[in-house]
Amino acid sequence: MNDVRSLLGKRRELTMQKKLVILDRDGIINQESDSFIKSPNEWIPIPGSLEAIARLNQAGYRTVIVSNQSGLGRGLFNMATLNEIHEKMHYNLAALGGRIDAIFFCSHIPSDYCDCRKPKPGLLVQIIQRFEINPASVPLVGDSLRDLQAGAAAGFSCHLVLTGKGQKTLDAGYLPEGTIVYSNLHAFALDFLAAKDN
Ligand SMILES: [Mg+2]
Ligand SMILES: [Zn+2]
Repeated sequence: MNDVRSLLGKRRELTMQKKLVILDRDGIINQESDSFIKSPNEWIPIPGSLEAIARLNQAGYRTVIVSNQSGLGRGLFNMATLNEIHEKMHYNLAALGGRIDAIFFCSHIPSDYCDCRKPKPGLLVQIIQRFEINPASVPLVGDSLRDLQAGAAAGFSCHLVLTGKGQKTLDAGYLPEGTIVYSNLHAFALDFLAAKDN
């Protein structure tokens, strides 16, 4: 009996590990800027986004960021500054009981032709391997077409939010098939968690 219980427990633990949500950063969690987020001061959370992450966490979901940060490759800021920006994010999030489990970023510029800058799915493929997930059951939330293209290429379920560049992205069309649209990350989290309860 005990063995069965511990087996079931282990199994539940394994299932729990698969509960993941992938998020783009700029335009989803914090305000987008055409001139890049180059300092902690320029990192301003979108209302409700940190609460949304905390809510997902409380429902057992881990959250992972996938972000193009070509500002690094362009020399607009360095790694120390990117870490400071993320410190601010983690600090603000922790105050609400939330956390980001991992941040995957591409530091390259387009002319590097790397395989990790979205719309290339390189970082997402790394996540699939690192977390041993089936991407079909994992939502990816983005505001740019390239987020969704990378997500669709790696087999994730694609969700567009209308914050950041989201409205422009929706208006431009060509969304991957099956993309679901939400007003913002908070609306996504509520809907996603409500659907999981059913
Ligand atoms: Mg974005
Ligand atoms: Zn890259």
